[in-house]
Amino acid sequence: MASTEISRFTVRRPAPDQVPVADLPPVGHFIGGSFVQGSSTEVIDVVDPATEKVLGSVPAGTVQDVDSAVAAAVEAQKSWGATTPRERSEVLSRIADIVEANREVLAVLESANTGKPRSVADDDISNTVDTFRFMAGAGRTLTSLAAGDYAQGHTSVILREPVGVVGVITPWNYPLLMAAWKIAPILAAGNSVVLKPSEQTPLSTLKLAELVAGQIPDGIVNIVSGRGRTVGQRLAEHPDIALVAVTGSVLSGQAVAETASRSVKRVHLELGGKAPVVVFADADLGAAATGVRNAGFWNGGQDCGAACRVLVHESVAEKFTELLVEEVGRLVVGAPAAGDDVEIGPVVSRPHFERVRDALAEATAAGLHAAVGGGVLDGPGYFIEPTVFSGVPAGAPITQHEIFGPVVTVESFSTTDEAVARANETPYGLAASVWTQDAGLSLDVPKRLDFGTVWVNSHLVFANEAPWGGFKGSGYGRDLSLYALDDFSRTKHVMINHGA
Ligand code: NAD
Repeated sequence: MASTEISRFTVRRPAPDQVPVADLPPVGHFIGGSFVQGSSTEVIDVVDPATEKVLGSVPAGTVQDVDSAVAAAVEAQKSWGATTPRERSEVLSRIADIVEANREVLAVLESANTGKPRSVADDDISNTVDTFRFMAGAGRTLTSLAAGDYAQGHTSVILREPVGVVGVITPWNYPLLMAAWKIAPILAAGNSVVLKPSEQTPLSTLKLAELVAGQIPDGIVNIVSGRGRTVGQRLAEHPDIALVAVTGSVLSGQAVAETASRSVKRVHLELGGKAPVVVFADADLGAAATGVRNAGFWNGGQDCGAACRVLVHESVAEKFTELLVEEVGRLVVGAPAAGDDVEIGPVVSRPHFERVRDALAEATAAGLHAAVGGGVLDGPGYFIEPTVFSGVPAGAPITQHEIFGPVVTVESFSTTDEAVARANETPYGLAASVWTQDAGLSLDVPKRLDFGTVWVNSHLVFANEAPWGGFKGSGYGRDLSLYALDDFSRTKHVMINHGA
């Protein structure tokens, strides 16, 4: 294992091969409870971003493959939707147990396919287990308006029903966890699902299917691998799909919502983000710098809630930047299999590497100063240097658009009103954080920030009990918590005339 000092952070390469062939999932779509060959022989190669080697391949799904999966899901949902919450809870608990028992193989696959360090993959698996366990319980505690006589001589009963078949489209940054965030509430509410994983990172989702096959009712979970424009598009348009949920970029969300509108399908969108981190003069600057190091660079910054845009009070901007640069300089970059201390892996793919590299070059050309990093590492592998741009002027393009890599910008502000206005200036509205020891600011500022989650003196901490989702360009609909169960079910009012 080579270890060199470059630009102050440590780099560990090369990577030994990680995945034994026997651990790869079967090649095929998972439809009706088993793996089946697709209707086309075309395959998509799946690449390890740390080595650029092909790990395996998956079928490029077709419209016909989606139609077969939807037919299986429609059939399976009839009996699944009629089960009791307790029966569904038992199935979700079983999935949690299966994931837990296979955490090693799932973490290795996830890490090899995405390039994420093992510590991040392990965290993803633990959270996947907890999501299934939470929804196993939450599905048994649904509430609604009390039955009652709200009109003279009539009794109203509010039923909560499954919506039917749900189409799900997931991204590459947390493949298994994002699948769990959807599958768990969708099944808990009595629906069946047809899911398309990202064509770049389908392995862990297909492995989950292999592991649960025969352990859960056939056809309630179906996985069709393939591209967005074929498989994703068909999920958005299929007449037998009642709701389509996308976690991905704004462009993909818009395309799906537009297509779904033709059949007036319900849409659930978890899209991009550009989370501001507002650091007030009275904040614990050391804690804020550590918070940004952790939450800005976790998963290589490829996180929709990443702490990527710091707004710090001008009186402490220099001190804060010094602390942050010091923290980021201590990060260990490398191939996930190169050591347990690796904290930042490669970005997911060559096109994404080129996007991030170009964003760095544009920022530098615009005169921004990289206080640490600012470039890319030599291949093989798609490695970007952990980067902090300091002294970034208000309105710089890099502060508005998602880069989705290990890149943090630092701007300064003078007044609270200015901080709030500038934090809200982005087209996104997913997450933000506020760093202060002032009780008034810690309540007042979050209320004024236009983001679905606002942390105070923290960032990127999740709980299955609390909702996650955005405002504005970050989409609508909620993952996690009882609110996800609301989104994946429908209410029906039954009114009985007993006064006649
Ligand atoms: P992406 O939009 O490129 O792809 C997401 C999924 O959409 C993939 O499965 C892709 O095949 C599919 N897709 C693409 N075009 C489509 C189309 N026209 N019709 C149907 N499906 C289509 O996103 P990505 O690059 O995989 O993931 C990164 C993005 O996801 C970032 O913007 C990130 O912020 C966002 N994200 C958001 C959350 C959240 O909770 N809000 C979580 C994770 C990732």
